[in-house]
Amino acid sequence: MLEYCPICHTKIVRKDTEADYYCPNEMCPARKIENIIHFASREAMNIDGLGESIIEDLYNENFIINITDIYDIDKYEEELMNLEGYGKKKIDNLKSAIKNSKNNSLERLIFGLGIRNVGAKTAKVLAKYYKTLDNLMTASYEELVNISDIGDIIAKSIINYFSNVDNKNIITKLKQFGVNTTYINNSQYEEKDEFKGKTFVLTGSLVNITRDKASEIIESLGGKVSSSVSSKTSVVVVGDSPGSKYDKALALGIPIWQEDEFLDKIEN
Ligand SMILES: [Zn+2]
Repeated sequence: MLEYCPICHTKIVRKDTEADYYCPNEMCPARKIENIIHFASREAMNIDGLGESIIEDLYNENFIINITDIYDIDKYEEELMNLEGYGKKKIDNLKSAIKNSKNNSLERLIFGLGIRNVGAKTAKVLAKYYKTLDNLMTASYEELVNISDIGDIIAKSIINYFSNVDNKNIITKLKQFGVNTTYINNSQYEEKDEFKGKTFVLTGSLVNITRDKASEIIESLGGKVSSSVSSKTSVVVVGDSPGSKYDKALALGIPIWQEDEFLDKIEN
């Protein structure tokens, strides 16, 4: 068990309600880098090309010290070109990934901010409910705990995050850089009886749709996606060379849809 942060040597703490130990020093470089990595990660702002080692480089060069600096990276273009391993193509790709991330729907931003106890799923619940970041920022504790899936700990954590001046400044800056702060419901799907309230498991490799997209569509149609087959599974969607989940579905007598059948049900 670590007692002190390996980077800044502050004594590590754990809150009663949480499992993880963490460094409480707001200025800790390790923490700051972690925040930036989290913000850019796939489930958050999904900035392609802004992975762990690049972020460490950019942090060490003082180009990106906090998440808002990501959107100001243009001003270091020349310096970046002079860094080892950073060609024009790599920098152009990075710049366009950063630009694209400004159009993300609100849930990615909420998750990316790294509010304690707010995971990707909770971020989505909040984005759908509040529609804009401004609405969420002014939400009261009473209102938050009344949303299903939001409990006391999460509600307090949200209130706490948005009452912090530094965090408010970060959000103001992100807005100035043109980062979208509204919920974009980009699903053209309406809930359907065949999906509503049902639990789906995907197995095998799907050919005409990615697994992420399939999961997203199932959710917009009112269903849930689970990773393991049990008696509670409603349907197993099967792609090429399915494994043990398929066998288990057969054994349990769970309805099985082939990929074509699944695509058909989505569209019709
Ligand atoms: Zn530290």
